[in-house]
Amino acid sequence: MDKILVTRSSMPPMEEYMEEIKGLWDSHWLTNMGEKHQKLAKALEEYLGVEKLLLFTNGHNALELALQGLDLPKGREVITTPFTFASTTHAIVRNGFKPVFCDIREDNYTIDERKIEALITDQTVAIVPVHVYGNLCAVEEIQKIADRHHLKVIYDAAHAFGVRKDGKGVGSFGDASMFSFHATKVFNTVEGGAICLHDPALELTLERLKNFGIRNEEEVSFVGSNAKMNEFCAAMGLCNLRHVDEEIAKRGQVVSRYRAHLAEISGIGLNAEQEGVKPNYAYFPIRINASQFGASRDALYEALKEYGIFTRKYFYPITNSFACYEGRFDVHETPKALQISTEILTLPLYADLPLEDVDRICAAIKEIGQRKRS
Ligand SMILES: *Cc1c(COP(=O)(O)O)cnc(C)c1O
Repeated sequence: MDKILVTRSSMPPMEEYMEEIKGLWDSHWLTNMGEKHQKLAKALEEYLGVEKLLLFTNGHNALELALQGLDLPKGREVITTPFTFASTTHAIVRNGFKPVFCDIREDNYTIDERKIEALITDQTVAIVPVHVYGNLCAVEEIQKIADRHHLKVIYDAAHAFGVRKDGKGVGSFGDASMFSFHATKVFNTVEGGAICLHDPALELTLERLKNFGIRNEEEVSFVGSNAKMNEFCAAMGLCNLRHVDEEIAKRGQVVSRYRAHLAEISGIGLNAEQEGVKPNYAYFPIRINASQFGASRDALYEALKEYGIFTRKYFYPITNSFACYEGRFDVHETPKALQISTEILTLPLYADLPLEDVDRICAAIKEIGQRKRS
């Protein structure tokens, strides 16, 4: 039986990539904001519908530097969600801020905007929400809260490449948004990331921060990092961008097939579709109600392995329960996130996943539920 893995990186035809990188053997310009880098940044601004976009080595460095670039007082509080990848929380902590965890919404797993205001103190400086699975946060409500309390908003939009709300690019909300172009994401540059922003002063700061804080040949104005995207990664991005619409459409077909099969199985909750939002079908999370379905999430995860189907407990554990943060946070302050993290499973999803494989996965899920119930 062939194995079905949870994801598979998108790659352009090899000849197309070769053609794209050929010129590098003439220019010998391999990194430091070269021609491919500039072309990709422009193309992405257009594709994503954002004002300004800066490229980085990866999404995490982009987020970490965006938080540094806002120049907020250290030691202060940042309200965020624990239902995310390690990166979001680490970026806050590594900048010397104290994460304050807000619980999540039951319907789309994003930060529960109705619970943010109760967490704001005189120490709060920013909100870092996550468009988790590509689901759009309550961007308007979050902005109103931020405006009322003079807080910055930096979105972790790592999952949300190409998502639009009423035609508006997801990266245009808040003070800044981070995208990840990691190999496993909807759009990849092998490793890579970006920050979208509006403020020209922040743009200038971030351009320096990603290049050691260097202002010019003789002046270093920030304690910066090195987070420049190289030309080979940018070239991969230029190629993948030509195919991304087709890839997203194919992902959409996979998702429709899943929905058609799974909607009828009791005890399996599906990710809600959001009105007015153009989705990118980044992930396909299902939520298992053990008593209705017949098996727990963990039991289903293990049983699927026996069918050669590899899923992911994404996100489990939640970040406020990580071993590296032991004793620092109380997971019971985010009971919904805690509960959902034990019930959620993301199923295999990538553009070239054959629909027959989706049928096989769904048949296996059905069979496992029936077997456990009887
Ligand atoms: C992938 C991811 C990141 C980090 O992005 P990298 O490009 O891998 O550094 C951050 N946040 C979330 C939610 C992610 O899924």
